[in-house]
Amino acid sequence: TNRSTDVVIIGSGGAGLSAAIEAKDAGKEVIVVEKMPMVGGNTLRATGGLNAAGTSSQAALGIEDSAASHYEDTMKGGYEKNDPALVEVLTEQAADAVEWLIELGADLSDVGRMAGASQDRSHRPTGGAPVGAHVVQVLREAAEEKGIEILTETTALEILVEDEEIKGIIAKDKNNNEFTIEASAVVVATGGFGANTTMVTEYDAALDGFGTTNHSGATGDGITMAVAVGAGLVDMVEIQTHPTVVPSNGYMITEAVRGNGAILINRDGERFVNELETRDVVSEATLEQEEQTAFLFFDEGIRESLSAIEGYIRQGFTTEADSIEELAEALGMNAENLAATVETYNSYVAAGDDKDFGRADMPRALENSKFYAIEVGPAVHHTMGGLRIDTLGQVLDSEGNSISGLYAAGEVTGGVHGGNRLGGNALTDLIVFGRLAGKSAAAGL
Ligand code: ADP
Repeated sequence: TNRSTDVVIIGSGGAGLSAAIEAKDAGKEVIVVEKMPMVGGNTLRATGGLNAAGTSSQAALGIEDSAASHYEDTMKGGYEKNDPALVEVLTEQAADAVEWLIELGADLSDVGRMAGASQDRSHRPTGGAPVGAHVVQVLREAAEEKGIEILTETTALEILVEDEEIKGIIAKDKNNNEFTIEASAVVVATGGFGANTTMVTEYDAALDGFGTTNHSGATGDGITMAVAVGAGLVDMVEIQTHPTVVPSNGYMITEAVRGNGAILINRDGERFVNELETRDVVSEATLEQEEQTAFLFFDEGIRESLSAIEGYIRQGFTTEADSIEELAEALGMNAENLAATVETYNSYVAAGDDKDFGRADMPRALENSKFYAIEVGPAVHHTMGGLRIDTLGQVLDSEGNSISGLYAAGEVTGGVHGGNRLGGNALTDLIVFGRLAGKSAAAGL
């Protein structure tokens, strides 16, 4: 049966739920449609943190930071391809996003550092519990408490426009019955297109055959629907790969394994890159190796430093051995080469100078039996391009004119991350721009 409301939100990830709460708090009736059986989208998979400068959590830990520094890091990380006006909004409103989540009941008291950041500003729950699932839970509970209706297993098919005015959407329920939801404002928060191989290779043919870390609903529907009503696109070719993903199942191995001291070796038992380089550089270097994968190599000391590794071992991702030679054998690798590589690397650790690749941070020598390896390769991780928006979350056409009544936020949009997204900036993007889009939709901007 057909429905009617003030604001329709397509997608129930971090961006859609934030938009829904703000629109409802502004006094509007809201319906969220979500095509999957559960809410949360890719946001559920976010592990790193939520980047923000000048928060109460940082203050409690004595960390001094500024939005200006967050801005500079984000622009530099994105190779200055980012839209400066959007990055200004992102970084200036990040702290308020953290306080808003804390007020809704979130625990963001642990603050750590991610690659490309010049200060500790990645917020997550105490003990480093997965941040995305926690944030989704807090937002979902807040939405339910406020009486926001979330229709799961309901797919938006089309945005309705009449006489240049947004009229709502056409959706289908799980029995494939189509119906209309009338509304004067639509917020597109459908996430990225990392799981849509056709769309990915259309924009970057070099990614043919890549796996993905994304949930299966990340198919770019919002891009297709919004373009059909005149939306412009930016940066579609900017697709981020994550360098350390288990090839057989798309499971992402956290950056922290390298951060805590692991090295990457190829099938000749040799290092081939500064392991702490940006994601794109490490991914590219891996693709140049035999079989286009590599092995994360670490020892018992690193295992003990990082609880996430226990999970990898439990899930059977690791090959382990009591000596370097045995491990090399198990991997079908030249044992002498691997032993020599590790010996050389350990001498660099002792000297504090990586003469081969200039790796700046080498926190641990690889010398404690047992030894471990995980085969990893790059997979599509985050699509940085998408719908063109302004600083209020309104969708723009390709000439930069706003499309009245149409808003977007989160991974479906482009311009915030430029050529390379920094770890921890995705959650900031979702919450900051989700809230803005919800407020703008309610205000009829
Ligand atoms: P973001 O991080 O930008 O919030 P997410 O991937 O976390 O994005 O969430 C986007 C959500 O939108 C996902 O749960 C996804 O299943 C949902 N979605 C995608 N396309 C549609 C569609 N056509 N109709 C309804 N929901 C959709």
